[in-house]
Amino acid sequence: MTGIFACVCTRAFPTKAAATGLKKLTGAGRVELVKDLCSAEGMATLAAKVREHGIDRIVLAGCPVIGRTGQAASVAEAAGIPAPHVTTVLLSKNADPAGTAPAIRKAVVALEAMPGFETRKLKLAQDVLVIGAGPAGLEAARALATLGHRVTVIDRSASVPAADGLKVLPGTRVVAFDGVAGAYRAKLRGPFGTVERTFGAVVAATGVKFADPVSAPFVPGRVVPMPGLLDRLAGLRLRELPRLLAIVLDLEIDEGKASNAEAFRIALEATRTRRTSVTLFVRDAKVASFDHNAAYDAAREAGVAVLKYTGVPAIRAGDGEIAITARDSVTGADVRLSCDLVALSPYGLPSPADAGLAGVLGLDLDALSHFQSNSSRLLPAATNRRGVYVAGACRGETWLPAVLRDARAAALEAHAFLAPRRMSVDTAHAVVDGDKCALCLTCVRTCPFKAMGIHAADRRADCRPEACRQCGICAGECPNKAITLPAWSDPIVLGLAEPVRRAPAAAGSRWGRA
Ligand code: SF4
Ligand code: SF4
Repeated sequence: MTGIFACVCTRAFPTKAAATGLKKLTGAGRVELVKDLCSAEGMATLAAKVREHGIDRIVLAGCPVIGRTGQAASVAEAAGIPAPHVTTVLLSKNADPAGTAPAIRKAVVALEAMPGFETRKLKLAQDVLVIGAGPAGLEAARALATLGHRVTVIDRSASVPAADGLKVLPGTRVVAFDGVAGAYRAKLRGPFGTVERTFGAVVAATGVKFADPVSAPFVPGRVVPMPGLLDRLAGLRLRELPRLLAIVLDLEIDEGKASNAEAFRIALEATRTRRTSVTLFVRDAKVASFDHNAAYDAAREAGVAVLKYTGVPAIRAGDGEIAITARDSVTGADVRLSCDLVALSPYGLPSPADAGLAGVLGLDLDALSHFQSNSSRLLPAATNRRGVYVAGACRGETWLPAVLRDARAAALEAHAFLAPRRMSVDTAHAVVDGDKCALCLTCVRTCPFKAMGIHAADRRADCRPEACRQCGICAGECPNKAITLPAWSDPIVLGLAEPVRRAPAAAGSRWGRA
């Protein structure tokens, strides 16, 4: 039986009385009005009603909180039914039955057209692999250990400082990675040889590769990296100090708070020599914290000039001078500054994460070659692979407080995934028709979640249910139309895509397809 669970709260049906007539308008087998459906109490009520009335398909009708990512899956888990058998209809504030019934009716029709699915439980290994023994990796590892996980930290570098209470393997890399979330098999190669271990989850915190300070756009002695600039100035005699110093941020990539804070500090210190005049070129100064704002104000009060530019400044190191030309974002005019020394932030240049490791782990890279694709659904720490999380510079964050926050978020996400110790997997995954499959591997290449593989014996593509997120990309890309998603067959999708019919059903009638 299909049950409709409608939320009674200030952002959906304001009162139970306001939802009167919903059952008649939708014709559903069971309509339950639940106060604050998104709350723990609301979910407990839902689970109890599901058991009491033998409900096996659920329509959740509520505000966008009900529709948030993962909510339907949580409801399915709590109710003990396959995830595709739960769907959501979003309501607006002060919803009324006549206005919402057509959309709910369509959802019921779609659910009832779905076949039944089997659900099985997979055991989740509690070991976690942390790749990288820098600040992000160690912070994540400590948090995971505190949460009760067995943690193995590896680092490519052979000289890694010991970390209290953590097992750190220096000089160690992942050379092969297979399996599914909850039971990944990683081959680790290090001074001890090669071993294969099983991990329930992985946190990648590997840092990035910054620009080489002796290669373009740096010019030794004239266009130099911003880090280390104060040491360089301290080693000069007074008459050798540059009179005009330019610090350039955001040259190719907009930078974060870390390099802005560093630039304000260096500019202030350099200005205090009383000989050097500093101009800071930024596309967008990051001052959105009290500390950053205070550092910015201090630099300005000391005489540091700040030029906000648009586009990409041109830096030319000629015979007698170094010239920077940039477009002033306020006046729109080109500004040319001739100076003695330019300090360039390496964080404003492309800094790719380890592409080799991304290939081994099966991680998608974003446009800046970092480990997390540009999707708000993945924030803060998830990746395209379930059970693999990222933290710190390899996902584009270099400001230490944010790096540490990232690391704790990654640890918490890994823990939230593993803590139930079992994962539900249903049979609603992509299905390959062996008679139609030409083994062109398009689906293997395009599946963002690495769920498609090869069935060697049958010579066809094959989907791993544990990894499939039922996104349908493979079905859309397959040139032979050999892939279907049982929960989202064409009749179901086309039925949901039809315009909502607003007129209420005749009293007492059972609706047909809208
Ligand atoms: S894209 Fe289609 S034809 Fe190609 S391997 Fe996958 S299922 Fe087979
Ligand atoms: S439905 Fe999505 S996750 Fe599943 S195999 Fe196809 S592309 Fe991969």
